[in-house]
Amino acid sequence: MSVADDLYREIILDHYRNPRYKGELPPPALKVEGANPLCGDELVMYLEVKDNHLADLRIKTQGCSISCASTSMMAEAVKGKELTEIDKIIEQFKEMMLQKNGAPESAEELGDLEALQGVKKYPVRIKCALLPWNTLIEALKAVRSHKPAEKVIME
Ligand code: ZN
Repeated sequence: MSVADDLYREIILDHYRNPRYKGELPPPALKVEGANPLCGDELVMYLEVKDNHLADLRIKTQGCSISCASTSMMAEAVKGKELTEIDKIIEQFKEMMLQKNGAPESAEELGDLEALQGVKKYPVRIKCALLPWNTLIEALKAVRSHKPAEKVIME
């Protein structure tokens, strides 16, 4: 275990134990569900979009430490941001998680989220980390198309 690994583990455990923006929002907040059946991770995301900003969000999660931590860290990273800015964070995060060797330079801009790249050592858990992100992508799609969101299932 390197010092970086220890630090990463601490950040992940902190988010797992103290999830940010946990809970629900009343209608008319947009509600989107996501699941990763392979691991048993499930979440329900509630979003309030105003003037092209993610004004508020709450998420109910049930699952492993990786999916819960990723959810909490994502919530913290995107809350209050402009939607186009959120697109960029999603893109950078997915790029970091899906790049086979190392991480792209842009990963440094992700702050604490960079801690999740340790998960890449366990390929089966990458889906746990990506679940909230894919659910957010579906949510933003629904916001932009004004169509209901579909449940996201990781395959
Ligand atoms: Zn999981």
